[in-house]
Amino acid sequence: MDAPLYSLRMRAAAGGAHLSGAERIAAGAELPALSAEMVSRALAAGAAPDEISCRIDRLAATLPRLQLPDITTWQLPDWRTARDCARTLLCRAGVSAPAAEAALSWLASGAAPGGAVMRGAMIVDALSGARLEADPARGVRVSRMDLDPAARPTILGALAAAGLGHPRVAEAWVLAGKVLQAPGIVAELCWSDDPHYLNGYVADPCHGYQRLSPLKAAGDPRGGRALFVAAADFDLDSFCTFLEGRPLLFDRAGTIASPRPWSP
Ligand code: AMP
Repeated sequence: MDAPLYSLRMRAAAGGAHLSGAERIAAGAELPALSAEMVSRALAAGAAPDEISCRIDRLAATLPRLQLPDITTWQLPDWRTARDCARTLLCRAGVSAPAAEAALSWLASGAAPGGAVMRGAMIVDALSGARLEADPARGVRVSRMDLDPAARPTILGALAAAGLGHPRVAEAWVLAGKVLQAPGIVAELCWSDDPHYLNGYVADPCHGYQRLSPLKAAGDPRGGRALFVAAADFDLDSFCTFLEGRPLLFDRAGTIASPRPWSP
């Protein structure tokens, strides 16, 4: 029997606001080093955290293993052009223009009450643009997903060879990979709240994980995620249960294209 795997989750907060978070699935022997790495990351996130929580849960013996979505990286002259590009990609995926516009402006102004950054993702009706998440400060936290430990070195090596070795790329790719499996998903839009990490992405089931560089201005501390869903037959509970609760590993990369200038 294979050694059991564990879900390891870290979340740090300062002044009641989300500061940083991380998700891994790993064998028991890796947990001490990984949790120390996550705590170091929380401490280096900018503000001094008031609270760092790490949670470890043992997972079922057999986990589904899937292929990650394809990656494209579009280089844009500036973040405003990149937001136009994000609108285009979202509409191509089936998001209405008003819903795309609403999500872009929520992310730009802070999607949690009072203009703060959310701890998780908004859930947005892809047609009307209405927000569906139960808690607009927390949203939904995509959790319990990672690279298969046995495939990790190969997949990270392929990313590095394509010039995409920044750890945030792998993390966002895995998160988007799980989001694209969720029942009712149409597309995802994301950019980081890290003022120094300016790339973002649009993901959809047909075109995969499409990185846009840069998607925000240097120094901007706002960011977030919007998950667009087809509201007809949509079940919020099943959607959130899948994203938060169902463990998933990725053991194969999709196609990784080298970064290139955007052409519509
Ligand atoms: P990050 O890419 O880690 O900088 O996160 C960007 C934004 O995405 C954060 O400000 C949160 O609003 C949201 N977010 C971060 N982690 C998650 C997660 N695991 N699930 C859903 N949303 C997240």
